[in-house]
Amino acid sequence: MKFLDLKKVNDSFEPELSQAIQRVLSSGWYLLGDEVKAFEKEFSAYCGVSYCIGVANGLDALTLIFKAWKELGILQEGDEVIVPANTFIASILSITRNNLKPVLVEPDPKTFNLDPNAVEAVITNRTKAILPVHLYGQCADMQNIKRIALRYNLKVVEDAAQAHGALYHGVKTGNLGDAAGFSFYPGKNLGCLGDGGCVTTNDADLADCVRVLANYGSDEKYVFRYQGLNSRLDEIHAAVLRVKLHRLDQDNNHRRDLARFYLDHIKNAKVILPEVKDWNAHVFHIFPVLSDQRDLLQAYLDDNDIQTQIHYPVPPHKQAAFAERNQQSFPITESIHRMELSLPVSPIFTLCEAEYLCSCINRFNF
Ligand SMILES: *Cc1c(COP(=O)(O)O)cnc(C)c1O
Repeated sequence: MKFLDLKKVNDSFEPELSQAIQRVLSSGWYLLGDEVKAFEKEFSAYCGVSYCIGVANGLDALTLIFKAWKELGILQEGDEVIVPANTFIASILSITRNNLKPVLVEPDPKTFNLDPNAVEAVITNRTKAILPVHLYGQCADMQNIKRIALRYNLKVVEDAAQAHGALYHGVKTGNLGDAAGFSFYPGKNLGCLGDGGCVTTNDADLADCVRVLANYGSDEKYVFRYQGLNSRLDEIHAAVLRVKLHRLDQDNNHRRDLARFYLDHIKNAKVILPEVKDWNAHVFHIFPVLSDQRDLLQAYLDDNDIQTQIHYPVPPHKQAAFAERNQQSFPITESIHRMELSLPVSPIFTLCEAEYLCSCINRFNF
C-alpha cells in the first residue's frame, strides 16, 4: 500500500483533468492568461480573501511576500523573522533568500505548531515578522500569535503549504494573517502536475507588488519597476487546479475520516497519537504519530506492505545548508524529528486499508 499513489489520485479526476489540459493546449496561450485569472478568482473566493496571485511554487510565494515588503519599505535587510524550528526548510529559505534573519523557536510539543510563549520570548527591536506554519494541516494558534503581532507591530505571514482549506474559528487559511503562501506541489492537499503556488492577501499594495515582482518586476511590457523574478503559475497548472479545487473539501473530509479512524482504533502504548484541536478545522495533510521505536515501527509496517514517511528526518538547523546553526539546540524539535512517523491519509486510501493498518500497529511490540 503506497503512502500516496499520485497516479491513482489524478486518475480519479478524469476525464475533467485531460479535458482541462487539452483546453490549454488548444488555446495556444500558456502563461498569464484566462486560466490563471480564473483560478486566482476561484481560490481567493474559496479562502475568503481579496487577492490571490499565482506563482511558480510555495517557496517563491513566501519569498515574494517578504521581497515585496522590502520593496515597499516595510522590511529592511537584517530584520528578524520568527519561525518554528520544526518546519520544512522552505519556510526558512524564504527568509534567508531575502537577507532577513530567521529566529528559530521551539513548537508546542502537542500540536507541533508555533508556541506563542516561545515567540514572545525571542522578540527584539529588530523583530519585524512572524511566520507561523500550519504544520501537517492544523492551524497554528493564530489568535495569540496575532495578539503578539499587534502588540509589537509585526507582520504575520502564514505558511499554508500544508493546510489548503483548513479553518481557524471558521476562517480559512490564507485569510488569517497579513499574507499567506500556498504550495501546489503534486503531493499537497491541492496539488498540480508539477510546481505551482500562490500568495493570498487582503492588502492591495502587497498584492500589486507581488504580482509585479513575480513577472520580472514588470506590469507593462518591457517596463521594469523592480528587479523581479520569473515566478509564474502556468496556464496548464491553473487549469488542473481549477478541476481539483472542486473536490478539495470532499478530499479533506476523507482525510478527516481516516484520521478519526486511526485515533479511535490505534491502541498501542508505544505509539503516541496527535492532539487535534478541532475536528472540522484540521485537513490532515499528514497524520503524524510519535514513537520511541519509530524506525523499527516503520520497518515493521513496511514488512506488512504499508508504506509510511517521515516529516522530517533532520530539522533545518542540523542540515549542512545551515552549518552555522548546527550547534544550536532545540530539544522539542529534535525529539519530534526523531520520533515522527506519517501514516497514509491520501484521498484514495480506503477505510478498509486503514483498518488493516490499525490492526498491524496494534500488534507492534518491539
Ligand atoms: C511544501 C512546503 C513548502 C514549499 O512548497 P514548494 O511548492 O515545494 O516550494 C513550504 N512550506 C511547507 C511547510 C511545505 O510543506
